[in-house]
Amino acid sequence: MGERPKAAFFSFTCCEGCQLMVLSCESELPDILRQVDIVNFREAMTERSEDYDIAFVEGSISRKEEARKLRKIREKAQVVVALGACSSTGGLNCLKNAYPMSYVQKEVYGKNAPKQKAFETEPVKPIDAFIKVDYYIHGCPIPKKEFLSVLTALLMGNVPKIANYPVCVDCKMAGNICVFEKGKTCVGPVTRAGCDAICVTYGCVCWGCRGYIDDPNTGAHEETLKRYGLSAESVMKAFNLYGECKKGRGREP
Ligand code: SF4
Ligand code: SF4
Ligand code: SF4
Repeated sequence: MGERPKAAFFSFTCCEGCQLMVLSCESELPDILRQVDIVNFREAMTERSEDYDIAFVEGSISRKEEARKLRKIREKAQVVVALGACSSTGGLNCLKNAYPMSYVQKEVYGKNAPKQKAFETEPVKPIDAFIKVDYYIHGCPIPKKEFLSVLTALLMGNVPKIANYPVCVDCKMAGNICVFEKGKTCVGPVTRAGCDAICVTYGCVCWGCRGYIDDPNTGAHEETLKRYGLSAESVMKAFNLYGECKKGRGREP
């Protein structure tokens, strides 16, 4: 990478909320722009360049054309960072995979859609089903502080540190009372921390948007569930918003 690396932001199937989180780093942006040359960021600027070192890729892949574009990005970038749940695990978009694609096309684009190429769609996959990903920033949306720490590490030539322990740790540090004590359920015990357990802190439960930790202690989680008269199966069924695509994924040729 040159002295002032070039960074590009791309989005595929998603709501672009993670790019919005990057843009909401208002206080830090002037410093960032002194250190990094942002050359591609559709949500923020009209200029485009195909010359970049770091590619931040948001969104999951749901069309052949997206997969082709993604592979080109990988060829050009030295470092590829998956930005957010859609990109890292498939995210919310994976809900679509529970239905036949023709049904999905009709629901979204009308009854003639399955016959038209313009409305082509495929089961959703995370970007690492198609390309090698160097680093992941998790969450739906990503936490600003995680984006800033990953970017800082990359600029300093360090390996970004991403939490690999459960959300329960963040939750205890935030001083929350466990929702199991209030008769609710939560997938914090198997979900990757790094979000300060924000959903629990603000009165909700953890839905698992940051995906599973690398080696989740599902045995311990099951024991906790049993203690509260619940089974892992029923909880995972109720918490199927995130992470479905990651199961059994394999790189596409
Ligand atoms: S991870 Fe969530 S916030 Fe980010 S692009 Fe996907 S749906 Fe939007
Ligand atoms: S199970 Fe949920 S509410 Fe309980 S400590 Fe873990 S993250 Fe917090
Ligand atoms: S508490 Fe759970 S659902 Fe909420 S941001 Fe953290 S990982 Fe995502």
